[in-house]
Amino acid sequence: MKKVISTLLAGALISTMLSGCGSTNTSSGGGSSDKPPVGVAIYKFDDTFMTGVRNAISDAAKDVANVEIVDSQNSQSTQNDKVDLFITKKVKALAINPVDRTAAGAIIDKAQKANIPVVFFNREPLPEDMKKWDKVYYVGAKAEESGTISGQLIVDYWKSHPEADKNKDGVLQYVMLKGEPGHQDAELRTKYSIKAIEDAGIKVEKLAEDTAMWDRVKGQDKMQTFLAAHGDKIEAVLANNDDMALGAIEALKAAGYFKDGKYIPVVGVDATAPALQALEEGTLLGTVLNDAKNQGKATLNIAVALAKGLTPSKDNVGYDITDGKYVWIPYKKITKENINDAK
Ligand code: BGC
Ligand code: CA
Repeated sequence: MKKVISTLLAGALISTMLSGCGSTNTSSGGGSSDKPPVGVAIYKFDDTFMTGVRNAISDAAKDVANVEIVDSQNSQSTQNDKVDLFITKKVKALAINPVDRTAAGAIIDKAQKANIPVVFFNREPLPEDMKKWDKVYYVGAKAEESGTISGQLIVDYWKSHPEADKNKDGVLQYVMLKGEPGHQDAELRTKYSIKAIEDAGIKVEKLAEDTAMWDRVKGQDKMQTFLAAHGDKIEAVLANNDDMALGAIEALKAAGYFKDGKYIPVVGVDATAPALQALEEGTLLGTVLNDAKNQGKATLNIAVALAKGLTPSKDNVGYDITDGKYVWIPYKKITKENINDAK
């Protein structure tokens, strides 16, 4: 018995030396291959949705990578400088949320020269840039899909609430709060939300459309302007994201909506925590889950696989890879009924 115990102890000691002490040694050396250094740049930290993605990246990195996440402060030249710095520091992979998605090409050129693979996320590079090098990937969500779903939220409401047609002309008068022009999500959500409404056989009239740059305060300002010009003629508000929808709701509240039976449907995209609260309160009609958690995790997993010299596949990253370089995370319709799916 004594012998068995001492053998066990010796075994335990050896395995501690191999694993425990070993990992301390390698990590103090910096850039150990089991926890590769990965450089992550976000277009700006001050963005509700991107904060969710950023947190998901750090969570996913915990035991598998040494991530450094930097704020590009909504400036492409700042981001380019940060990328240069990552290259100097010899990170093993880059994960980039471009400020200007047309600037991806220049980032790819630099990365390729240094042989550092790149994963872009949330802001989709142009197809010709994606083809520049085989170590370039993109993680995002199909913008058309979120547009279609947000249009369907309005369709469902319109069909079950005849009083929604306030002036009884059989036409849906709407206003659109658009995200940043040129962003695939802004362009395609705007287009496909209205297409979904028209495809459902509903005639529409656009009273106003303007960009509020994904921003809540700007959303409130623009909605105030829309209300000043069109007042109660507006029958629905579509916003390309939840922050702008929440801004619009503030402006609508100030104009007397959401009390004494005065209502107007407002839809957004993202399913952020404050948006879910507005859903519960009954001000926001519906939203679309933009899955920050899986987008962040897929981005990190691909970066880690690339950093280890692997070719990303479902087996080593846990997500389907389409056309050799794209991961598409699905959207989901969220209303009060299935709010828990987004929490
Ligand atoms: C989100 C927006 C966010 C933008 C940032 C979009 O997918 O819906 O809320 O501001 O990405 O690029
Ligand atoms: Ca009408």
